[in-house]
Amino acid sequence: MTFEPDVLIAGAGPTGLMLAHELQLSGVDTVVVERLAERPGWSKALNLQPRTAELLELRGLLDRMRDDVVTTLPAGHFAGMELDYRELDTTQPWQLGIPQARVEAHLEAALASPVWRERTVEGFVQDDTGVTVTVDGSPVRARYLVGCDGGRSTVRKRAGVPFPGRDGRVSGVVADVVLADGPTGDWTLPALGTGPMTVLPLGDGAHRVLIAGAEQQVPRDTPITDDEVRRGLGEAHELVSVRWASRFTDATRLVERYREGRVLFAGDAAHIHLPAGGQGLNLGLQEAVNLGWKLAATVRGWAPDGLLDTYNAERHPVAARVLAAAQAQGVLMVPDPDVVALRGVVEELIRAAGPAMAERVAGLDVRYPIGGSHPLTGRRLPPVDRISVTGPGLGAGRGVLIGPSPVPRGWEDRVDHAKTNAALPAVLVRPDAHIAWVEGDGPLTEALARWFGGPVT
Ligand SMILES: Cc1cc2nc3c(=O)[nH]c(=O)nc-3n(C[C@H](O)[C@H](O)[C@H](O)COP(=O)(O)OP(=O)(O)OC[C@H]3O[C@@H](n4cnc5c(N)ncnc54)[C@H](O)[C@@H]3O)c2cc1C
Repeated sequence: MTFEPDVLIAGAGPTGLMLAHELQLSGVDTVVVERLAERPGWSKALNLQPRTAELLELRGLLDRMRDDVVTTLPAGHFAGMELDYRELDTTQPWQLGIPQARVEAHLEAALASPVWRERTVEGFVQDDTGVTVTVDGSPVRARYLVGCDGGRSTVRKRAGVPFPGRDGRVSGVVADVVLADGPTGDWTLPALGTGPMTVLPLGDGAHRVLIAGAEQQVPRDTPITDDEVRRGLGEAHELVSVRWASRFTDATRLVERYREGRVLFAGDAAHIHLPAGGQGLNLGLQEAVNLGWKLAATVRGWAPDGLLDTYNAERHPVAARVLAAAQAQGVLMVPDPDVVALRGVVEELIRAAGPAMAERVAGLDVRYPIGGSHPLTGRRLPPVDRISVTGPGLGAGRGVLIGPSPVPRGWEDRVDHAKTNAALPAVLVRPDAHIAWVEGDGPLTEALARWFGGPVT
């Protein structure tokens, strides 16, 4: 009999692999289809923000990655303005510098089923019971299809869902290079529209350089010559060789909706933006964690009505906010005296707002529109010692009720119980570690039914 997965994921980038991992936790049959025979040696992204690191830690994946961490920076930045992470209320108050290719390799190694490599998702047709996906000319039937196939997503285009926004106005070059003047710890603010640049040591003798606006309005596929990189470096550094180079732009687009029937989108397939502040990969992994348990619950048959639609309701505004921040950073890096004045004002406001901007860039300030009057409702579970957990808990992608009373009868198969010594009211935590209910916000059983379906008797 032909194998029919529950979920087919297009694309084995970080988002697709993380989603596959989330679905695997709940025993959902998943196939990841990737058109590349193997992962390229170079990496676009180089960092994990605190919220992403928290989620990887929660799932037991962070430890696997530790040996590949090149830098641990106690700060993030907004348009080059440093944001102190040290006082943030998190187990991960830093940016972990780790190449995207290594993150992907570890996620892939954690999967029980191999990725279908050198196979391309070409299109699909969906009906009431599933999606017939064309992979290299042959049909593969699945119950759901998720497009994690990057910014030029075939799945998004075939679905016909609008991708509003604007094209790039400036372009830049990212290159991993060997420099004659050897390692440097320099960070130089990239000035869009002028040329150099950020220089970041990669830890293996090479450097990442971002040459912003070196050749403006150049089509993205135009080959990058060593001379172009050399011109971008200017007098500052002598180029020995270019290992890898690619163009980026400040094109900004966000998919109109993250779901079209049985087809969903995540990661760059849903949004593109200027790679400022180290957000794109992080956004994709966080989306995968939001979507994974909801899709698993839908496939397994216990999802309450509307659960899958909360993926769009919760994540679309978060992505819109990240894109707006990337656009704002693009403007704030223009080397014009008036913009320099604006930067000064923005920096003052950032400092006056305490940790607010650091929490935002770190991904720690997200609050989902769940309702409820308690300030914790909808927010991520802060670091808290959980003692005497009755089951595998959040690490296994299950819900957890933290508090003195046990889980009401009928939900024990989906929700575990934990006690804590912390001064925390009783809380119901979803598998993505966001708080769905706080003691005092209406009956617990209503919240359980809303997020975990009806009781099983
Ligand atoms: C210069 C640059 C620097 C960046 N720096 C950072 C950073 O520091 N921090 C950060 O968080 N983000 C950064 N980003 C963004 C980050 O790299 C992306 O957001 C991230 O790669 C998105 O992951 P993804 O899995 O959604 O998509 P992708 O990484 O694009 O993966 C999509 C996968 O789908 C495959 N695919 C495509 N079409 C098909 C198909 N039809 N069938 C099968 N497979 C298909 C592709 O081969 C690919 O493997 C940077 C981006 C750029 C360009």
